[in-house]
Amino acid sequence: MFKFLKNKIGKFFKLIFNIWFLYLIFFSFLAYLFLNPSGCSYPIKYSLGNLDPRFEISQEDTFNILANAEKIWEDSMGIDIFEYDPKGKLKINFVFDERQQLNIDIKKAEKKIEQSESSVKKVTTLHDDLLVLYNQKLSAYDISLKDYKQQMDTYNQKVDYWNNKGGAPSVIYDELNSQRSNLGIVYDQLSYQEQVLNELLGKVNASVDVTNLTIDRYNTHVDSFNQEFGGAREFDQGDYLSNTINIYEYRTMSDLTLVIAHEMGHALGLNHVDDPYSLMYYLMEKQDLNNIKLSKDDIQALKQRCRIK
Ligand SMILES: [Zn+2]
Repeated sequence: MFKFLKNKIGKFFKLIFNIWFLYLIFFSFLAYLFLNPSGCSYPIKYSLGNLDPRFEISQEDTFNILANAEKIWEDSMGIDIFEYDPKGKLKINFVFDERQQLNIDIKKAEKKIEQSESSVKKVTTLHDDLLVLYNQKLSAYDISLKDYKQQMDTYNQKVDYWNNKGGAPSVIYDELNSQRSNLGIVYDQLSYQEQVLNELLGKVNASVDVTNLTIDRYNTHVDSFNQEFGGAREFDQGDYLSNTINIYEYRTMSDLTLVIAHEMGHALGLNHVDDPYSLMYYLMEKQDLNNIKLSKDDIQALKQRCRIK
């Protein structure tokens, strides 16, 4: 009996406890829904999925970029929003197709422009050096020519003087003869200097032509680059769909950070915002790639998502 009675009381308490426990769970759930101040209590766990080797990015660099993208979201409010976990449900894949191929082509075109730019620098330097040398030689020639003309005038005056007198004494005559032959030597030297100057001027002019041609070629490269690759890009370098972020293209590491952070925003449940400087704007154009930060609009969207006032 006693045994039976004890058993009954035990069952009764068990029943009360079970009902109380269910209530506890139910009210905790209600409290979670309505009273919980943050809708981002648990970080979204993400992991690296497929990393196509044609992207030519190391796993280490990729992890660093993922961490940076994560930080952009978390630094704004100091809460843990994302967390890397090798088993994380949110997968980030690098999918190679014609989009990244285009970026490889862009890099090649940029290299061409760089080479073209350094050619411009080289020919411009050569032209400047030649011009400096030409001007040095020209002013030396001008001084020599002036000197020659003065000596020539003095000589002619002396000759006229003695001619008017009906002839010079033999000493003077010899002296004038020697002066004339010296002047002849100076004249030959001047002629040679003139020849060197003309050759140099030819080189200077040729270097102007080469410089202009090289600058034209450089401008053509830049123009065709701008035509082909310039302008704003839509955020289709990546996308987010049911727990998967796919990255299709990037040009630089900061470019990639921005794309991943943008898609992480979608994974968080955020939509696009209107401010063009925002991370969650639909275009990649005005955001500062050197200092990627959440804008006011981004922060407002995040606060709404996390139910933070
Ligand atoms: Zn988007």
